Amino acid sequence: MSECLFCKIVNRQIPAKIVYEDERVVVIEDINPQAPLHVLVIPKTHIASLNDVTPGQDALIGEMNRRAAGIARDRGYADRGFRTVLNTNREAGQTVFHIHLHLLAGRSMAWPPG
Ligand code: AMP
Ligand code: ZN
Repeated sequence: MSECLFCKIVNRQIPAKIVYEDERVVVIEDINPQAPLHVLVIPKTHIASLNDVTPGQDALIGEMNRRAAGIARDRGYADRGFRTVLNTNREAGQTVFHIHLHLLAGRSMAWPPG
């Protein structure tokens, strides 16, 4: 996936502020933050969207969510609250077609979402 923005970030071909990394995921600060905390949990393997997740990747998706909760806890937002968002395709506003879980926290958030 040589033209994928997040593959390039994972492979260090494009710089990003990495706040966590292990063998399976990287977590970066969003370049256009929408809350005091706004990071993206990105799997190192290229998956275009939630539509493309296979049963063998269920653990990876679970891990992304647990990692987001762990970062929220570490930053002091576990009790206050936080939001995780995974946009899929056009009407949901997906712009980068390498799956990523948004973690947002630090302000009140509306529901329903825009
Ligand atoms: P989505 O609209 O759900 O596909 O989210 C893509 C997110 O990636 C947006 O919140 C962008 O601000 C963010 N983004 C785009 N390019 C970069 C980049 N180079 N580094 C960090 N975040 C980025
Ligand atoms: Zn990719």
